[in-house]
Amino acid sequence: MYNKGDGTFKSQPKFMSENIVDNILKKTLSHCVDNNLPSFMFAFHGGEPLLASKQFYKDFVAKCNAMFLLKGIQPVYSMQTNGMLITDEWCNLFEELEIYASISIDGDKSTHDDYRIDFKGKGTYDRVIKGLRRLQRKFQGIDSYKVNLLSVINTKADPIEQYEHFRNLGGINNVDFLFPDSNYEYNEIEATETPIADYLIPIFDRWFCEEEKTIGIRLFKTFINMILGFENFSTDSYGSLENKILVIETDGAIESVDVLKICGHGFTKNDYNILWNDLEDALQEPLIDLYYYSHVNLCDQCKSCPLSTICGGGYLPHRYSKLNGFDNPSVYCKDLAKLICHIQNSIVNEFPNDVRELTGINPLNWDQLHAYVSQYQSPQKTATVVG
Ligand code: SF4
Repeated sequence: MYNKGDGTFKSQPKFMSENIVDNILKKTLSHCVDNNLPSFMFAFHGGEPLLASKQFYKDFVAKCNAMFLLKGIQPVYSMQTNGMLITDEWCNLFEELEIYASISIDGDKSTHDDYRIDFKGKGTYDRVIKGLRRLQRKFQGIDSYKVNLLSVINTKADPIEQYEHFRNLGGINNVDFLFPDSNYEYNEIEATETPIADYLIPIFDRWFCEEEKTIGIRLFKTFINMILGFENFSTDSYGSLENKILVIETDGAIESVDVLKICGHGFTKNDYNILWNDLEDALQEPLIDLYYYSHVNLCDQCKSCPLSTICGGGYLPHRYSKLNGFDNPSVYCKDLAKLICHIQNSIVNEFPNDVRELTGINPLNWDQLHAYVSQYQSPQKTATVVG
């Protein structure tokens, strides 16, 4: 997200102070009590969260557990890390503090090293794999702690090779494929009309027909469940539910989802801060409110789209244009339509005939859907390529 023009991290403290942490804990606790919440998730995210000290996490978790458990509220801790700094000591700490770490890895060595490089320009794949193996060794055989991966799609790579790579790593619970962060101002991949769908569909076909699935693919599971009518499988990227995620920066700033930083320098900045605001106050902030209701507040095309309850207009940051703000379908509209249509068709084709007759559910027609999603006139004729 910081590769696309936002440089606000340069003027923020590198680490969160004790005072900020204390305010976060006090205010999230009162939010949970006021709203009768049985649990609350803290996701340590970066930057790279392993650059903070082990003591930071020990103090955070000790204070949080003492405060929350006393009120009968279960805190849950997760972390998104690039994996390069994972040592055996970190693994011990994850176990002790019950922090569930997920690793960012974009595919096999050449695919991953295409984008994920260190400050010296060197690929980081080998170091990520070392961290991953340490984590796997530590938690081998512990079902509650399976390793999850997050992978940004690189359409230059062969999709089946990447899928096989993840399978061959072994011991992976779930891979979450992310669409590259683009919008109508910055769109890196326009080689074909539907590059992301064309990348994911072969993976889906391979994965879907496997009798025993060795890895889960969150994106596919999400769409399958929503197609089958389980709307609780909505995520912040798709579906029809509210997005209950807030970002607290190291200086205490309360902001909307960090990926919105791709819309421009300082785009997520506002005057709300955990030092002088409650979490509820932040819901008054327009961008936070927009993200919270981003699957409800849709543009006209999305509102009348037959896929809207599943697609939800896509991920809010992917809808942005300077001309219309967020009043657009996702820049990945055709990809989403093609992928959802393909998954729906695959499921419905598995239904026995009597189930189809009984439910009246038939495969969606891609030609009709394509005609529908092709009506939209892009607000920007030229796309800027960002490396
Ligand atoms: S497929 Fe396109 S038009 Fe339909 S809801 Fe998704 S983004 Fe909107």
